[in-house]
Amino acid sequence: MRPFIVAGNWKMNKTLEEGLTLVREVLARFERTPPNTTVVFAVPCPLLQAISEVLRERQGFYLAAQNCHHEEQGAYTGEVSAAMLVSVGAQYVILGHSERRQYFRETHEQLARKVTVALRHNLTPIFCCGEPLAVRERNHHLPYVARQLRASLFHLSETDLRRVVIAYEPVWAIGTGKTASSAQAQEMHAAIRQLVAKRYSSETAQAIPILYGGSCNAQNASQLFQQPDVDGGLIGGASLRADEFSAIICAARST
Ligand code: PEP
Repeated sequence: MRPFIVAGNWKMNKTLEEGLTLVREVLARFERTPPNTTVVFAVPCPLLQAISEVLRERQGFYLAAQNCHHEEQGAYTGEVSAAMLVSVGAQYVILGHSERRQYFRETHEQLARKVTVALRHNLTPIFCCGEPLAVRERNHHLPYVARQLRASLFHLSETDLRRVVIAYEPVWAIGTGKTASSAQAQEMHAAIRQLVAKRYSSETAQAIPILYGGSCNAQNASQLFQQPDVDGGLIGGASLRADEFSAIICAARST
């Protein structure tokens, strides 16, 4: 059975005090996560260590960073390495978010190296893919996402690919309030699984968790989560409030 994963991407939001308050409020609502459900907080780097201490010994709750550099270490002012993230308690790292691709010009090749370096340090990559609106309108979304996966993930061995979480996030749905329909999400998730089956095996395709992201909230989460190939969500704006994020976590339980 694939794990169900609800991951909150805080982006560049929350000071240390605000972040600690949010995490404590979410934890206060759950004695434990719903069965087979993993909850991940993807927080800004300066908050990682303090939040890691709050999450310690809370089963089912994990910590993520939102990026890491593709080199092990060196003269890259302002950057953060995979080893550093592990040293402050991160277990996951978001890679290839569309905001990083768009504003920081991250390339397929860099992302392939980031995935490799993250795995080398036992960080689980949450690898984001997804098409912009113009591509969707031309009905080219399936080959567009296939290219992203081939270019940045399919260099991995089968064993390593099984350590990756994929997040499908249509760019036109991120932060816009326009959610993909359940049918659109299911179509893409099934297509991703088929690609993985073709390149690796159907066992691996069935094992790999694929999350949906893009204006997912407490109202639409359970419908999206009911799709057979949707294994949870990567949640942006709606992860910034404890009540909303907790309701999304509960939606995982109700599917
Ligand atoms: C995201 O940025 O990963 C995201 C899904 O954002 P939002 O939920 O705000 O659309």
